[in-house]
Amino acid sequence: MAVALLVAAGSGERLGAGRPKAFVVLAGRPMVEWSLDALRAAGIADVVVAAPPGESVSGATVVPGGATRSESVRAALAAAPPGDVVVHDAARPLVTPDLFAAALAALEGADCAIAAAPVTDTVKEAGEDRLVTATLDRSRLWAIQTPQAFRRSALERALAVGDEMLGQATDDAWLVERTGGTVRVVESTPANFKVTTPHDLRIAEYLLADRLPRPPAA
Ligand code: C5P
Repeated sequence: MAVALLVAAGSGERLGAGRPKAFVVLAGRPMVEWSLDALRAAGIADVVVAAPPGESVSGATVVPGGATRSESVRAALAAAPPGDVVVHDAARPLVTPDLFAAALAALEGADCAIAAAPVTDTVKEAGEDRLVTATLDRSRLWAIQTPQAFRRSALERALAVGDEMLGQATDDAWLVERTGGTVRVVESTPANFKVTTPHDLRIAEYLLADRLPRPPAA
């Protein structure tokens, strides 16, 4: 059975909500709890949460997060029971249970399998002078999300680097790539977006309010 690492230790500066992003109340409960529900519904019972000091999460092992996202992953991994691993950002509260299952299933024949949405915008590269230097072939581009599933040994090897290298990683799959591991994309949708700005928070609030249990009709 796989174990889950839920990274929730970010400060959420861009959100400006005055408290760590994963603990901002979203549709009536702390943001991190929406991902915990989806993990439980996917049958993943062992969850380690990397959280800021002083925050607690019921029903999960909690460890203090690190200075960067990948340091938080490494701290959570050290406290996780044996098994393959699925890493998820608490900042993606709209994740669905089937996406965890799909990422883990795609580990068959790969070291790592990552949720990703096909890119729908045209993507260009530009220099510091804002002049366009290239237009990329959109049909081969994927916008990477979490969950990201890993063979345990591949993730341990990938994270066995200095803090400076960890700080450069915007996801853990890149650390697997640079150690020669195979990474496969698993098709997801933009609905599994990361809450970053106050605008994202309002959209997530609107969408998650629909998932709350309705009071019985009088
Ligand atoms: O900053 P960003 O939104 O990209 O962070 C992605 C996820 O990583 C969030 O769920 C955040 O709480 C987590 N994180 C962490 N430790 C850090 C930085 C970010 O657990 N030091």
